[in-house]
Amino acid sequence: MLFPVASEKRAMLKRVENCADRERAAMISCAARELFEEVGVILARGSQTLTAGQRASLLDDLESKRMSWPELLRHYGLHLDASDFTFVGRWVTPPFAPRRFDTWFFLVDSPPKQQPRVTSDSELESGEWIAARDAYAKWERSEVIAVPPVLHALKTLADGLTDDLVKRFLSVPEAHREPTRRIEFHPNYICFPVRTKTLPPATHTNSYLIYTSREILVIDPGSSYEDEQQALAACVAELIAEGRTVREIILTHVHPDHVAGVNALNDHLEKSHGARVAVAAHRSTAESLKRQFPVDRFIEDDEVLSLEGEPDTQLRALHTPGHTRGHLCFHDERTGALISGDNIVGFGSVLIDPPEGSMRDYLASLARMRSLGNLTVLFGGHGPAIANPYEKLDEYISHRLQREELILDAVREGASTPKEIVARVYTDVSPRAHPMAERAVVAHLEKLEADGLVARDAIGNYSVCQNRER
Ligand SMILES: [Zn+2]
Repeated sequence: MLFPVASEKRAMLKRVENCADRERAAMISCAARELFEEVGVILARGSQTLTAGQRASLLDDLESKRMSWPELLRHYGLHLDASDFTFVGRWVTPPFAPRRFDTWFFLVDSPPKQQPRVTSDSELESGEWIAARDAYAKWERSEVIAVPPVLHALKTLADGLTDDLVKRFLSVPEAHREPTRRIEFHPNYICFPVRTKTLPPATHTNSYLIYTSREILVIDPGSSYEDEQQALAACVAELIAEGRTVREIILTHVHPDHVAGVNALNDHLEKSHGARVAVAAHRSTAESLKRQFPVDRFIEDDEVLSLEGEPDTQLRALHTPGHTRGHLCFHDERTGALISGDNIVGFGSVLIDPPEGSMRDYLASLARMRSLGNLTVLFGGHGPAIANPYEKLDEYISHRLQREELILDAVREGASTPKEIVARVYTDVSPRAHPMAERAVVAHLEKLEADGLVARDAIGNYSVCQNRER
């Protein structure tokens, strides 16, 4: 059994047997507590004699906070021993978000007679007791998504419980706090976050490499920094070295943090592999980019891009304007993955800034994405993959509609300019962000005007349409 422990400070144990290192002792204590809280397995010396009923009542003591973890162990005469916890790595979250976890992993034997299960108070959404080999096969069939340390653990365990198991766990630099660059939440989909001049709080934009046995599609090489461009090119080169060719560079939309590395990647491909590749995007993206570089091919709504080779990979392009006019998403109907660009992001929020942005189009695009029959995961332009696509889309839609309702109320109560509306509606936002909030309000007002719910007079002040109140 493998259990990750994020370094956090809660009530810690004073002593773990056979462990002189305080930090390691604290992590072992956290690991044991998490293991008990999340899957109901207690890995403490002295617990062998507890009945299932007693273990349940211990768990209840902990979850109801009647006792802290150290108190609980003391009270029941239990103790932790470091030799039960084999260290198998320390992984750091990729730089998707400012909040990054430095997580210790331990390998433990599940004690006899204890069956791991997702406990009622668990932070886990679901879980099953499954052989690592079977879980890895599920990932290979794109039935589950896995974060890099878990994927590495499943693969390592699936390769056999051999004498060099721990060595294999520790054999990759990522197991020693080297940040992961190449993230394969799904097989054949590499998420490669690159540092960009994007909008705070985000600092990185996700480039994606979708590949088969023969071809590679590069989506959004967006970094303007040379070191980041080189890192992405090196990852592409690895795939090329395995016998593939780059088919195209595809752009989800026009924003600089999604396109700034296109030329650099093509320069690299020309220098190292003999030829530049075609750049493909929506017509209106191409129009806006024409002074920076030519777009060689237009991608039409509903067009299907089929890659040669294995696995069978077909991506349906969806023209989903709103964030920008020419925004595209790409839906893999076999696996249910959706490259969602900046329409839905795993971190930060989506700016709708007229005239390039349109709230009316954006909501229609979200509704269209929501109507797709087979969605299993969203791969957004920023942040980690989103494993609950329908809930996330519903959340985005209702958030915008609630804001719209508040804005309409503010206009009804006499606020007539974006500035006045922001002052009433965006009370949760720091004044520094007000100019940005004003752009969002303008986007909402344009939609409300198009919907016939507000009107704008000659000097640009808004009022509610009397006969169209809702
Ligand atoms: Zn964008």
